[in-house]
Formats: sequence, structure tokens, C-alpha cells
Amino acid sequence: MVKPFVPQLVYVEPRAMEYPLAKELIGKFEKMDIEIRETTSHNQIRNLPGENHFQKYRTAKSTLVLGIRKTLKFDTSKPSAEYAIPFATGCMGHCHYCYLQTTMGSKPYIRSYVNVDEIFDAAEEYMQERAPEFTRFEASCTSDIVGIDHLTHTLKRAIEYFGKSEHGKLRFVTKFAHVDHLLDAEHKGRTRFRFSVNDDYIIKYFEPGTSRLKERIEAAVKIAEAGYPLGFIVAPIYLHEGWKEGYKEMFERLEAALPAKATKDLTFELIQHRFTKPAKRVIQENYPMTKLELDESKRKWKWGRYGIGKYVYQNEEQEDIKDTLGGYINHYFPDAKIEYFT
Ligand code: SF4
Repeated sequence: MVKPFVPQLVYVEPRAMEYPLAKELIGKFEKMDIEIRETTSHNQIRNLPGENHFQKYRTAKSTLVLGIRKTLKFDTSKPSAEYAIPFATGCMGHCHYCYLQTTMGSKPYIRSYVNVDEIFDAAEEYMQERAPEFTRFEASCTSDIVGIDHLTHTLKRAIEYFGKSEHGKLRFVTKFAHVDHLLDAEHKGRTRFRFSVNDDYIIKYFEPGTSRLKERIEAAVKIAEAGYPLGFIVAPIYLHEGWKEGYKEMFERLEAALPAKATKDLTFELIQHRFTKPAKRVIQENYPMTKLELDESKRKWKWGRYGIGKYVYQNEEQEDIKDTLGGYINHYFPDAKIEYFT
């Protein structure tokens, strides 16, 4: 069982201490005897403990930086929301195929923004621009926000903020089961709480440092009982020997555990495994022993963002994934909605 994250080392950026959240967290970390360092900017963090890249990478993943979000222009976040809302970057998990390895490659530490009210103010402007349409904000584009929230409670505040808003909705996804502090948040049905799930084989071999499927399902049950709209992202869908059985068992376990009320308004998002050439290099550097299959010749090349091609499954394999997983979802959760397969 993965314990709730506790940083090994904490950095504070100078202006962060002007915000009450930073003061509160520093007080908490001092009591916990965690080493605290000042830094002029997170870009200056170079002397992390560790003898080599491998060790430094691991130290970085358990380092927390308290900083300020300066850019209050939000990125778009298709297909699941209109905007990405930035509360944090980085993650303590060690999923071999993590998308952050390419997007945040040089900054693997976790950075939490303490100017939360300013971020909410920016969100308010985006909502006003689109009103009376709803605006959906995705909070997990650059981190697994739930994984650090037992410390910061920023996500909890955001859930309540959007609960009160007139035209806002929040969504995020997590591979962590530490959700207890979020159960009494006044979400008002405006937050879709999604869990990233996969079969046992995949979680065991490729997702070290995250909650196991059993724990994620237990957390999803609590979230459903707390009345949140619930969703699952099956990602990355990865073809391994026995994948059809593995995914079948996963859906069976979900169906057996979830209360009936959760299955009426349930969403699934399906994302096949993909990699780019730069990602492959980073994965092999950070996880040299990985069993992850990254053979370009077995995949189909697909045009990707920023002109970097990605390797996805062949067309027939994609059809097989859609038919198999779509079939399981229709069978076990006939009222659920499959939002997309990509
Ligand atoms: Fe990356 Fe999510 Fe795994 Fe964290 S839990 S390492 S964000 S894939």
C-alpha cells in the first residue's frame, strides 16, 4: 500500500512566503523535521542530493517546491475540458510511461502554487467570457493533484470554489487513493472525480509509487458515496499477453464494488498507449530496466502536436481495443458514457 506522500526535501521560492498557504505548510514541515531550503527560483534547483542522474531523479520526485504561478493564462485542454487550471506540476509516482517525463522532463520535482486565489480569479474571467455556457477546468494536466492534496488542500478549495461558481465545472484524474479529506467538500455535483485505472499486470510492472487497483477502487467507492459524479480513465491501454482477461477482471471488480447510484452517471475515457521518440529516450534513461514495449516497428506512426510524431497501435489493434473494452463497458455498465477513445 502506498502511503500518503511526504516530501524528503522542501524548497521555498522567495515571494511564496507572502501567501498564507506557504506559511502554513512550512510550519507543518518544520514540525515534521523535513529539511527546508530557500531558492531564488525553482529553475535554480541544481544541487539535489544524489550521486548520479538516476538518484537525483528519484530525489527530485520526492522534493516539493512551494512557488507562485506567474502566468495566469491557462492552456486549453481538449478533449476533456476547455482549460487546464494550474495548481501544481510534477508527481511523486513512478509510472514508466508518464506523460510528465516529456513535458516536465528537466523539472521532475513537485511544485505547488500557493497563490491559489489569484488562480481562482483568472478562472473567473474565463468563466465570464463563456457564460452562460459552462466552462470546464481540468486540474490534472501537469501533475497528479490528488497525490499532494492531503498536504495542501488546494484541490479541496477548488472543488468548493467551483461548487459555488455559477458557470464552472472541475475535473481531474488520479492514480492515488488518498481521498478522505475530500469526502466532505461541498462539491455540489460540479466536480467529476476520475480515477485512472488499469489491469493488475500493468499497474504492477509500470506504475510503481501509485495506489494499487484495489485501493483506487475502494477510493472510487468512497467518492461515489460522497455524491461526486464519477469517471474512469483507462489509460494507457497497453497490449500485453492476457490483456483481454486482465481488463475483463478489472471491469468485473469495478462493477462488483461500485454502488448502483454511481453507475447512472458514469463516464469512461479510453486512451491507448503511445510514445514519442524523445519520450522513449527519457523512459530508458529514468527506468532502464523497464519491460515496457517501445518498438517503433510494431506501431503505427501518427502525426502529433508540435510536429513530434507518436507511435500508437496498428489500426486492427485499435479496433480490437475499442471492441473489447467498449464491449466490457456496455456489458458491465450499460448506462455509462464512453467519452472518447484516442
Ligand atoms: Fe505520471 Fe500520473 Fe503516474 Fe504521477 S501518477 S507518475 S502523473 S502517470
